[in-house]
Amino acid sequence: MLVPSKLPASDYVVNPYTGCSFACAYCYASFMGRFVGEPMEAWGSYLSVKVNAVDVFRRDLRRLPLHRRHSTILLSSVTDAWQGVEKKYQLARGVLETLRDERYPGLVSMLTKSPLVLRDVDVIAALDRKEVGITLTTTDDTIGRFMEVHAPRASDRLKALADLNAAGIPTYAFVGPLFPHYRYRRDLLEDLFRRIRESGTRSLFVEHLNTSSYILKRIQPLVDQADPGVKVVYQSARTEDHRRALSEMVRELVEKHGLDLRLERVIDHNLDKKHGGRR
Ligand code: SF4
Repeated sequence: MLVPSKLPASDYVVNPYTGCSFACAYCYASFMGRFVGEPMEAWGSYLSVKVNAVDVFRRDLRRLPLHRRHSTILLSSVTDAWQGVEKKYQLARGVLETLRDERYPGLVSMLTKSPLVLRDVDVIAALDRKEVGITLTTTDDTIGRFMEVHAPRASDRLKALADLNAAGIPTYAFVGPLFPHYRYRRDLLEDLFRRIRESGTRSLFVEHLNTSSYILKRIQPLVDQADPGVKVVYQSARTEDHRRALSEMVRELVEKHGLDLRLERVIDHNLDKKHGGRR
């Protein structure tokens, strides 16, 4: 339950579920199906609940060597720990309660698309070091529905971010993936950055669309059904030229709105892969 991670900015990841009912078309975690005998295409249609996750996590945490007890733990990397079933199983909450009870001194970083995380503000507030990230890809609920089929609406996520800030919890926004149309609609990306700033959040990660072929295969049917212009935009998303233009736009907007870009770059999995995944 406490798995070493190569992700930027996290040392360990905790995933209480396998699968994710939010079913985002661009999700890179669709490969997780192989652990539960599900094909990639079925991502979003199954969910395996690790019912003993909290007990196993407690055991793993207690076994963590002393010199690792300041590591950053991310909840979660290949599922959303606050998706609907979390209301019933309360595994994310149980993991947080364990971290609180064990007085874990490292940073506990949470990342979700769900306002359900607000349920756990009491436990989160009691953690020594913490931050909650909300993934925001657009301010437009319609576009959200197109790509993030069953995830909470963009407007609800922005409100959740504001509520977390009002509760005094350190927050960040995760703007990823950067939808390709922003290259031609800077105003829409600017609106997103402005709204994040207005919510009280200053810090953000930004990530390009991961265009690995297994991901594009899931996105393609959606793009095919859309306006022909959308198809052209998504095709261009694979080029370095496109990524460079978007990265530049992000840099300008971050500066203009007084935001803090984590890692000082736009995360690019295509580049990371080319450089052996260690960037
Ligand atoms: S919420 Fe996250 S883990 Fe779940 S499908 Fe969407 S991108 Fe994947």
